[in-house]
Amino acid sequence: MKDTRSKKVYSVVIEPMTTTMKQFFRSLIRPSTLLYPFEKLESGDKKYFGVNGDIWSRYRGWITLNLPACISCGACARACPNKCCVMEKVVDDPDSITKTHMHPRIDFARCLFCELCVQACPVTDCLNMTSIYDITEYDRKDLFYTPKDLYVMYKKAKMEKKFTTMSQGKVASKKE
Ligand code: SF4
Ligand code: SF4
Repeated sequence: MKDTRSKKVYSVVIEPMTTTMKQFFRSLIRPSTLLYPFEKLESGDKKYFGVNGDIWSRYRGWITLNLPACISCGACARACPNKCCVMEKVVDDPDSITKTHMHPRIDFARCLFCELCVQACPVTDCLNMTSIYDITEYDRKDLFYTPKDLYVMYKKAKMEKKFTTMSQGKVASKKE
């Protein structure tokens, strides 16, 4: 009887308190949270608890389009299960290499970030996943990205080296 009571005290009081204290002292050395949006998690960041620096390799963030590389095949739009990736004619497009000028646009308000469109794209370094995760707008309409908007994001991601290593792996395997 006494043994059962001490087991209960251990599992209900001592064990949870030990875990709480352990987490408390650990968070003094490595914080578990950050003051977003004033602080942002960066690629390879190890200063926060639970971040081992490798969370970005398979991260599925913002999708970008390298417009001049797109061949207007439509494979991305066909692969999209949510029909939020749709082909659109781009007028006044000096970057397009195709006659049809049809390129994908993405409605990020409905995107699942499943990466099927990226995997379906047959062209090297055309449609890529990035580690850009702060996808927030006040209006849903602002999450609607035309091919030209996706190309702007591509140039930004390239400059800031935000492509996920998984996307880069896909690029490498296509080159082989
Ligand atoms: S990530 Fe998935 S849901 Fe989003 S556009 Fe690509 S295929 Fe569609
Ligand atoms: S982004 Fe890729 S899959 Fe989509 S139309 Fe262009 S080349 Fe084809």
